[in-house]
Amino acid sequence: MQPDTPRIRWAAPEEVAPRSGELPLSRAWRWSSPFDGPALQPVTAVFMSARAYVRCCAHAGSDLTNEVGGALVGRWLLDAETAQPFIVIESALPARHTRHGSTFLTFTQDSLVAFHDDLDRRYPGRELVGWFHTHPRMGVFLSGYDLWLHENFFPNPWQVALVIEPHTSQGGFFVKQADGRLDPRRYFGFYEILRVGRQSVVRWTNLRPEAAPQPKE
Ligand SMILES: [Zn+2]
Repeated sequence: MQPDTPRIRWAAPEEVAPRSGELPLSRAWRWSSPFDGPALQPVTAVFMSARAYVRCCAHAGSDLTNEVGGALVGRWLLDAETAQPFIVIESALPARHTRHGSTFLTFTQDSLVAFHDDLDRRYPGRELVGWFHTHPRMGVFLSGYDLWLHENFFPNPWQVALVIEPHTSQGGFFVKQADGRLDPRRYFGFYEILRVGRQSVVRWTNLRPEAAPQPKE
């Protein structure tokens, strides 16, 4: 069955500039995907708090038959020293009012209104930096429909799509390249922002732990 096509285009690309920030490398653990490398240059680096990771995985595991998903909340920043753009995913909003089945997920107009209500009420000053959804027993990629949804609802270059495969515990981020292309097969890793004094919580089997946090001198 084909998902219904929402008739609205939710957000035109925003002309906002990133805020000035500092890459949180001193408390972040790098997780690499098999596709990360010099040939692929995403327009933004992705940092995700351990709390947001746990929240996404909990929602992903809540239905192992049907696709589920939601929005990613955080900030879009530019490192003042290196001019590296990056997003920090601070939380996740499980979607309500969705239509879904074992091979598709559709956000409805009500889902999108609820995301923005939650954002305004609970996360003032934050942005929807992307979205996440699951692919039970299907692997980590973006379908043609996922690409359509991404372009229509999350059109800013710094907005990302996270796909989670809950059965094999895999995940990856789809991020645009400088030329605006979004490769639907090759996903990126991310930086996990650790809680003070805590160990990593990342359990995805397809990502490899790389650089440990780099404490400041
Ligand atoms: Zn999908």
